[in-house]
Amino acid sequence: MDISVNLAGRRVLVVGHAGEARHTIARCLASGARVYLAGDDDEGRDDRAAETVVRVVLPQNRLEWRTLVSSVDLVISVGVDSATTDALERASRDARVWLTAEPPSPTLPLGRVTLVGGGPGDGQLLTVAALTALREADVVFFDRLGPVARLSEWAPGAELVNVGKTPGHHAVNQTEIEQKLVEAALAGRTVVRLKGGDPFVFGRGGEEVLACSRAGVPVTVVSGVTSAIAVPGAAGIPVTHREISRLFTVVSGHTPLAESELVHLAGLGGTIVVLMGVGTLPHLTAGLARAGMRASMPVAIVEKGFSTSQRTTRATLADIAALASRLGVLSPAVVVIGEVVRLSEQLDVTTATFLQDAAAELTTD
Ligand code: SAH
Repeated sequence: MDISVNLAGRRVLVVGHAGEARHTIARCLASGARVYLAGDDDEGRDDRAAETVVRVVLPQNRLEWRTLVSSVDLVISVGVDSATTDALERASRDARVWLTAEPPSPTLPLGRVTLVGGGPGDGQLLTVAALTALREADVVFFDRLGPVARLSEWAPGAELVNVGKTPGHHAVNQTEIEQKLVEAALAGRTVVRLKGGDPFVFGRGGEEVLACSRAGVPVTVVSGVTSAIAVPGAAGIPVTHREISRLFTVVSGHTPLAESELVHLAGLGGTIVVLMGVGTLPHLTAGLARAGMRASMPVAIVEKGFSTSQRTTRATLADIAALASRLGVLSPAVVVIGEVVRLSEQLDVTTATFLQDAAAELTTD
């Protein structure tokens, strides 16, 4: 019988040999448990989980077992001898603490996880490092924001697992994704987590790195081209431009900004780039206006960057929310607020033409 228990914040005592219990320990750590280990150590083993596990001395008599067991919420024995099993059963019964047993882990070599930034959707914007990681992968966990059209070609030897929303299916939640990454690496697999844009820009990449390192799984990150810069660029909008904007701020519009944040943003005087900002656009534009930004400030929304249906909508701070709603602007889209938007106003120039124009301008400077 399988029972799933939420172990977040719970104290779990693992009794067994550190090496044989490493999968059990890693799964407990990945679920947010505080893990105590009573058992032998492997001499000289590369034990990355060691720092997060509290070692306790193996009890020598009934009282010591009972004291130890009664201070935790769950006990898991892993491949222990019959004398230890008897002592544990007695102590758990006395202390009324749950006891379960798991088989020892086979001594498989540990796999690894690479978080790969896949860029904003166009395969041309994958890095060489991203392609190398994909080519070596045994399993790729992806979602709709990454470049996925040619995934089976880029990762020919890999099982492809969709952890994003698909029609009729909920997205796999973040904790489950982290557990899947850890479990696959513990099973010795070379794992790629492919993410849209850059893994560390609103991509929850930091959480996935932490989950892996907490579980003792080696993890590396391959940076990606972020939509925050590339999508405005694809619509001919440079996020900085000499004498027009010398700073840009990237902000999440996932939840409405607080009044003090709006005041700071409006006061910065550079370009503001908003990701996940379609839903909160009316709140943002009204807030910036309240915070003193002038009504005529140019704003652009670039939808579905790098796809055949890329579309740019331009207006002013005062008008953009109403226009976006009239035109049915949808996510994914990047909102750009600032004078740099004017630079793209000769229709939808491509980045290439824009760069050509900019280069010509520079040579005549
Ligand atoms: N890590 C990603 C961002 C994840 S948040 C990155 O660095 O790009 C998801 C948001 O990114 C979307 O809501 C949208 O605002 C933006 N986005 C990502 N890809 C996009 C695209 N191709 N076109 C427009 N917006 C995009």
